[in-house]
Amino acid sequence: MGYPKVTVNLKTIRENVKSVAKLLGEDIKIAGVTKVFCGNPEIAKAYIDGGVSYLADSRTENLRRLKDLDIPKIMLRLPMISEVEDVVQYADISLNSEIETIRALSEEALKKDRSHKIVLMVDLGDLREGYYEENDLFVAVEEIIKFEGVKLVGLGTNLTCYGGVIPTKEHMKKLARLKKEIENRFNVELEILSGGNSSSIHLLSNYKPESVNNLRLGESLILGTEAAYGKQLEGTRNDGFKLQVQIIEVKEKPSVPTGEIGRDAFGKVPTFVDRGVRKRMICAVGKQDIDFDTIYPLDEGIIIFGGSSDHLILDGTNSKIDYKVGDIVEFRMHYVSILRSMTSEYIEKELIY
Ligand SMILES: *Cc1c(COP(=O)(O)O)cnc(C)c1O
Repeated sequence: MGYPKVTVNLKTIRENVKSVAKLLGEDIKIAGVTKVFCGNPEIAKAYIDGGVSYLADSRTENLRRLKDLDIPKIMLRLPMISEVEDVVQYADISLNSEIETIRALSEEALKKDRSHKIVLMVDLGDLREGYYEENDLFVAVEEIIKFEGVKLVGLGTNLTCYGGVIPTKEHMKKLARLKKEIENRFNVELEILSGGNSSSIHLLSNYKPESVNNLRLGESLILGTEAAYGKQLEGTRNDGFKLQVQIIEVKEKPSVPTGEIGRDAFGKVPTFVDRGVRKRMICAVGKQDIDFDTIYPLDEGIIIFGGSSDHLILDGTNSKIDYKVGDIVEFRMHYVSILRSMTSEYIEKELIY
């Protein structure tokens, strides 16, 4: 197998899911979010083995990859009207906030003779998707219950994504109140109340809101971190995904470039700290495949200098290892680098069972 390579330890992922499920308790069902690994079905199976109740993704291409796994699937991103065919085909439930889209989903579901369920999103202040005004939500519900192709099954919210708003008891109480009010006013039963993403774990592991019964989790299953404060959760590991890259040049060079400094490959004027002559190691991977701010060398003696689209430059001066051309350097990654490396077709993926 070639390099660069991402290795995925499926046992780590499975154990992370089990630990998070234990922390949240039986009343909260987990929708395992697969978008960070592009809906790879083998990794999704590790989620299922760990105990998730749904799989969820923001792209229909990824949901399609999961089609043979027998578990309910959720479309996370508000559907484009142009993709309702695939949404109805590959998702059982979708998160929504626009009547026009829900009407199109309803028509498509009738055409295909499939059932499709709707969770309406409520914006509690983070200012991404969802109904912001309560009255708009009630008006929408009144319309949706008339559609014959879809069934309204729940409410959901998303926090700490755009606005960085941290979930509180008040947010969960408001969600629960809206659910009750809709049930009473429209004589429907909402089976799903989805209280957010990995940023809601911190709150819900200490406090059990009466009717929130679902979380949509990606980061916390992959890395074991809750996303409000970045804390590592009990019984989880953050090294299930690792990056391996090969060294293509090793040379002693100064730490400050010579000559007049203009712009770098990405149009920014770079600045440098003079550390004298260093052992510089170039690796064959770049910004096309990863994000330099979210990779962490397992060898703590290595410093990341930077790089460009296809080159990563490391400082190996302080390492105990005498790196040579052809050697492999290994990194732990955080969310953005996992996302980018799993998306990059230039990176080999190896699953460890
Ligand atoms: C990506 C996404 C999630 C998962 O977020 P994590 O922070 O990775 O847990 C949940 N809900 C929606 C709507 C998303 O787009």
